[in-house]
Amino acid sequence: MTILILNVGSSSLKYSVFDANHQVRVSGLIERIGEPASHHRYQGCDGIGHDLTAPVHDHDQALQHLFDLLPRLGIASHQLQCIGHRVVHGGEHFHEPARIDSAVLAQIRQVSPLAPLHNPANLLGIEQAMRLMPEVPQVAVFDTAFHQTLPDYAYRYALPDALYRQHGVRRYGFHGTSHRYVAKQAAQMLGQPLNRLNLITLHLGNGASMAAIAQGRSVDTSMGMTPLEGLMMGTRCGDLDPAVHFYLGRTLAIGNDELENLLNKASGCKGICGENDMRTIQRLADQGDASAQLALAMYAYRIKKYIGAYFAVLGHVDALVFTGGIGENAAWLRQQACNGLSLFGIAIDPARNAAPAKPQARIGADGSAVEVLVIATDEELEIALQVETCLGNAADPMRHNPPCKD
Ligand code: ADP
Repeated sequence: MTILILNVGSSSLKYSVFDANHQVRVSGLIERIGEPASHHRYQGCDGIGHDLTAPVHDHDQALQHLFDLLPRLGIASHQLQCIGHRVVHGGEHFHEPARIDSAVLAQIRQVSPLAPLHNPANLLGIEQAMRLMPEVPQVAVFDTAFHQTLPDYAYRYALPDALYRQHGVRRYGFHGTSHRYVAKQAAQMLGQPLNRLNLITLHLGNGASMAAIAQGRSVDTSMGMTPLEGLMMGTRCGDLDPAVHFYLGRTLAIGNDELENLLNKASGCKGICGENDMRTIQRLADQGDASAQLALAMYAYRIKKYIGAYFAVLGHVDALVFTGGIGENAAWLRQQACNGLSLFGIAIDPARNAAPAKPQARIGADGSAVEVLVIATDEELEIALQVETCLGNAADPMRHNPPCKD
């Protein structure tokens, strides 16, 4: 099955085309949509990269560009058998991918207030793709779906009951596609069925989240109703005393929009040291920059606290799994996050940690009771696999949630 995967952001369109063997035929990114100098980077099956800078006025035009480009790269429109859309928030309704129809669109629209920075753009992409390719089946794959197995005592906030029942205020969790993908890969590496494994997965990229996975099912996760909660991130604050909001609102006389911006875009590593790219922060810290050193220490400390918490949640842990740009590449972070955790049976081998094989490696010391794995995530591939499962083209042996709604 030839599948186009679309990930539509407020000013970007990321895409990949997978063939029947799950090989990427084409991938690309259109950024700064709506600005005079939009940028389109793509790579076809010949592996040659292309860069174009030209105005792309809106998402409609971006998709039109893509559908014009594909035949030139050897993918005729009749070859596209399905379009899979990454959708950030599926609320409580979606436990699995869903074939898109008007009812599914309405459900996605209904939960959009919970993800105002993401879902409206996802919806725009879906509606335009349906308009341009009405004959091709389209499937939505939700970042929240993997975490729909959390028990109520883990997903509820200690707030008045009506806020949950009437307004959906609860933990949903995100990065579910990535947590699910690396959990499946970990099970393969360890040679055991996923439903017999307890894992702590750490997705550490620009956004960052952790999941406690008991017998293959997510039972807790660090992000909450929105991706703001939990770990310290590139520009997001993560866990914060809610009273800080009221205090800042009153003291700085700023409104909700400004506060939302401050906590999402100007906090985290950026707030502490002025930078959000981990490689830059590392370089500054190596040069003796005290605020960069503090950002790294805070970043690793928050992760270590969550590892401890998730050990308590799971009781027994088979493996820690690091993924995402930082989790896959920052050896110092993996070492620092696991330092002093020998009481949990975690020991990293420094040489293995320094240069883990790609795309997956074991970095635990010989005799470490808990395996420590580094696994490159592949969210696009996971979306493609879930789309196939949803359309009934492939049996997914790791499937453990209720059946696809379509
Ligand atoms: P996104 O969440 O946007 O998908 P990524 O998973 O690509 O982000 O992660 C981006 C982060 O990974 C950036 O902070 C980047 O600095 C960091 N990163 C990438 N390569 C390295 C590296 N070799 N060492 C440390 N950090 C890295």
